[in-house]
Amino acid sequence: MTSATENSPIAPASTRILLLLGPPGCGKGTQAERLAAHCGIPAISTGEMIRAEIRAGSELGRVAAGVTITGGLLSDDLVNKIVRSRLSQPDCANGFMLDGYPRTVEQGKFLNSLLQELALPQPLVVHIDVPAQLLIARTCNRRYCAQCGSIYNIASHPPKNAGLCDTCNIELQQRADDCEDTVRNRLVSYERSTAPLIEFYRNGTYVRIDGTSTPDSVFEAIQKSLV
Ligand code: ZN
Repeated sequence: MTSATENSPIAPASTRILLLLGPPGCGKGTQAERLAAHCGIPAISTGEMIRAEIRAGSELGRVAAGVTITGGLLSDDLVNKIVRSRLSQPDCANGFMLDGYPRTVEQGKFLNSLLQELALPQPLVVHIDVPAQLLIARTCNRRYCAQCGSIYNIASHPPKNAGLCDTCNIELQQRADDCEDTVRNRLVSYERSTAPLIEFYRNGTYVRIDGTSTPDSVFEAIQKSLV
């Protein structure tokens, strides 16, 4: 049992604020889900926060929905307000995990001051690192069978006969947006926005996890970093 000092507004020591960083395709979504279940805390993404506001029919939700519908980007100010609203909910009192937020150093600064205001500890930043070349290979070597849904990887998990599904013996498909250029562009824009954020967090509680191994090994490594 952890005990807070008498009259202390400080959250219990067991409170976990986790923040997941990692490039698109690093398996962050899967790890986020497992991690949240393991720690018994809600997994919060920007999309989830906005949908919650829209569902609740709040003013913030109405504004966010309007911006999203017209294809615009939510301003930092609007995102901050939505984050404040979400993190003040009772289910966040014992901690939470953020996935996809903050995206910028400005948002990171806002989050730090918000945590202070809510008497919550600063976040443990878990950075799942995977080299670009591997992400491109993982994504661009992927093939699937339109009939049975089996997934292959022509490098790491090839079908027995090149280009054909082992079960259905029909030609395997490649997702249209799986080409190298698309992945590379996505990574460049990720790098541009996240590199400063990683610099920002490096002075705090920051762990870099090698994301090149299997999802199980990655999860194990994250778990060890939580001690
Ligand atoms: Zn098949």
